[in-house]
Amino acid sequence: MNTLIHKIIAKHRQACEAKKQELKKSRILRCINNSDIKYEDLIPIGDEDYDRIVSALEEKVNREIGEEPRYRNWFPNIFAWREIVDSMKNRIRDAYYIKNRPCGKCGEDNTIFFCFRSSDESWKELCGREGYMLICPDCLTILGFVPYFLN
Ligand SMILES: [Zn+2]
Repeated sequence: MNTLIHKIIAKHRQACEAKKQELKKSRILRCINNSDIKYEDLIPIGDEDYDRIVSALEEKVNREIGEEPRYRNWFPNIFAWREIVDSMKNRIRDAYYIKNRPCGKCGEDNTIFFCFRSSDESWKELCGREGYMLICPDCLTILGFVPYFLN
């Protein structure tokens, strides 16, 4: 009996995971639809790399970016670097390297394509955004953002 229940739960979990992956893929495809990014060129960033990238980015932002204005209410598609770091640290963990796609500004080949979700506060203020963003952590440039949810 017990094993049967476990089997059912395991099967259900598997189905949920497959659905989640499918949904993620469809959102990514929607976001890269009008860009030169190809789905096949995305290389998932593993947990260890992810943590290293985010903490390096946080350090760099704290060192190089001064106080950032709160302009989200007027320009909901302009994002502060601290909000980006906060999203990567505390919200959705889904990030990729892109094969052969150096930064258009500095030429370094470290661009990161990842899922960004704006702060809870921004959703309360009706300027929430969730979507995929392309950044260059080397020259701190936001190279692109396409939301799949907004309010
Ligand atoms: Zn760059």
